[in-house]
Amino acid sequence: MNMENKYKILLKGISASPGIAIGKVFHLRGDVIKIEERDLDESEIEQEIEKFKAAIEEAKADLRKLTKQASKKLGVGNATIFDVHRMLLEDETIVGQTIEIIRSEQKNADFIFFRQMNQFQKKMEQLNDEFFKERATDIIDVKRRVLQLIQGERRGDYLARLSTPHIIVARELTPSDTITLDRRKILAFATDIGGRTSHAAIMARALEIPSVLGLKNISELIAPNDRIIVDGNHGEVIINPSPETLAKYRKLQGDYYDYERKLTQIRELPCRTLDGKDIELSANLEFPDEIESVISHGAKGIGLYRTEYLFLAREELPSEEEQFQAYDSVASKIYPETVIIRTADLGGDKSPDSLKIPQEDNPFLGWRAIRICLKETVMFKAQLRAILRASARGNVKIMFPMITTIEELDQCIQLLNEAKQELDSLKQSYNANIDIGTMIEVPSAAIMTDVLAKRVNFLSIGTNDLIQYTLAADRGNERIAYLYENVPPAVIRLIKQIVEAGHKRGVWVGMCGEMASDPMAIMILIGLGLDELSISPIALPKIKQIIRSIKFSDAAHIAQKIMQMENGAEIKKYMKKVMAKRFKNFPFI
Ligand code: PEP
Ligand code: MG
Repeated sequence: MNMENKYKILLKGISASPGIAIGKVFHLRGDVIKIEERDLDESEIEQEIEKFKAAIEEAKADLRKLTKQASKKLGVGNATIFDVHRMLLEDETIVGQTIEIIRSEQKNADFIFFRQMNQFQKKMEQLNDEFFKERATDIIDVKRRVLQLIQGERRGDYLARLSTPHIIVARELTPSDTITLDRRKILAFATDIGGRTSHAAIMARALEIPSVLGLKNISELIAPNDRIIVDGNHGEVIINPSPETLAKYRKLQGDYYDYERKLTQIRELPCRTLDGKDIELSANLEFPDEIESVISHGAKGIGLYRTEYLFLAREELPSEEEQFQAYDSVASKIYPETVIIRTADLGGDKSPDSLKIPQEDNPFLGWRAIRICLKETVMFKAQLRAILRASARGNVKIMFPMITTIEELDQCIQLLNEAKQELDSLKQSYNANIDIGTMIEVPSAAIMTDVLAKRVNFLSIGTNDLIQYTLAADRGNERIAYLYENVPPAVIRLIKQIVEAGHKRGVWVGMCGEMASDPMAIMILIGLGLDELSISPIALPKIKQIIRSIKFSDAAHIAQKIMQMENGAEIKKYMKKVMAKRFKNFPFI
């Protein structure tokens, strides 16, 4: 697409992390591979050929694996595509000639292979035959695979080449991408795939990087060095904006940062409604070094510490000692406030290399979170001991994710007791009366809240999963993100039931899912009687400002009204009206 056509393209996506960024794009995908022509010394030639051969062998092995996986998943017929790719690499005219030319021209393997494949691709495209035209796309794929292997690079390595920060555009970001990328080099994220509660979105908020996900085809529309605007507040991206648009967004960017700066003034003030009801407003934390941001945004403790990030992007499991150091450092920095440490929620889209999680058809419905921990008890016990040791100061609580049955919670408590005994025998100190909580994020747990509540000191509602499982809607799939857009009445009813069942049993009920940081939902949640909200630090000042400007009695009245409504669109319309009337000068509602 030429510059003229691309001028001022406006794309709508899902607002995943607030803020506005303007900058040049960096295209995080295979075809950003840079091919440089390099002359080889005589002495380098054989080594270069060996490198090329090794890359071809590795590519063939990968393709064999893919054939197997695909035939298991899709049936044998559908797996042949990878066989075709592999056969291309067995073709003497491609591989043999490449080797010959590396020798004769004494040039680097990636340059020669790239040139050979391009010529081959052109020939295919020129043939007036659909079959061969399709093979041209296969050649692009195979070319990319081999070039990446020759250059020995992974996605994150590309970023190392950047000297100035860029906006990262990718088809998709994984949680591992977001951890391994160097945040100093990132102005914003814009991706084709992903929803607001996908873990990539959660990470982007934790890193305070403006992000718009679910843009469908932005990775195809941009070219290197395009300038784009990412408006994370409204979920929009503009490619190659006009000078007027650029000026408008520079102004909006300035206004937004002024607004943020002003909000910091309420940092030390209590999170109390106008009629005196205190709401515990705490923060979600993913990385121990986020603690500074948690404190600077005025959080009252940490309502969810997602420990699974300690397990990702590494070869071995973290040891008990390493985990203890991480948890203890967070607990000591947040003291005297408390931190709720959630045991590892692995699986789903968070698969560590150190643990063999088999490929599953439905990973979010499969071997995930507590289901893994209750099987991998050596790993789980090490984490329980590490958390217990960090509790010695008295400000740590423990929480279990994805509890689905009562038996699971009972087993967790049993293993926690065993971990306590193990520490006793080692004479290690810990808080023997540590508070135990469970997440309510599976509908079966929501239905059984009264029984679960008998066994714990607190409950925390995980709406990201509770919505996903109640509505049968994948939280990372942008095609069905509309199901999350309106506050679904089915979920409101569940929340009400959970709060009432918890309170009846005398335990406090919080929420650590993303709904708790939605300005449109906040009055409903307060009105339903939630005691605590745990949200990403970046959203804290905004949510606190809302809570400080409302009356609990009004919120309760609004929640009652909402309970009568039968569909999400009606709720959304009503809440928009309520909020617009109350918060005239609140620019981001
Ligand atoms: C949730 O499901 O709402 C939650 C807080 O847990 P996570 O987002 O880590 O799955
Ligand atoms: Mg969850």
